[in-house]
Amino acid sequence: MPREVNVGPKIRYEKSTVTRMIKLYCTKNHGYKKELCEDCQKIHDYAQIRLTYCRFGDDKTTCQKCTVHCYSKNMREKIRVIMRYSGPRMIIYHPLFAIRHMIKNHR
Ligand SMILES: [Zn+2]
Repeated sequence: MPREVNVGPKIRYEKSTVTRMIKLYCTKNHGYKKELCEDCQKIHDYAQIRLTYCRFGDDKTTCQKCTVHCYSKNMREKIRVIMRYSGPRMIIYHPLFAIRHMIKNHR
């Protein structure tokens, strides 16, 4: 059975959050300004695909709160480092995003 592809607003929002977080991390840690470095690009693509096929679709909470760990161990570790770095900094660089994300996490 082919898995459904998510196109809802929540998934789209999560995707852009992930993109911003990885971009912020890459710029600050790897010095890439316009594009992502090869490693970050891979993580980014991976995260996008996970979201596209997230089994909860638009009913999902944020990935940190998700009970289904759909990331592979390797990728989970990498994305965790990025989130840990970018999470608190989002409030400075993308305050609206950060606030919306925090509200969702506390629900
Ligand atoms: Zn990078």
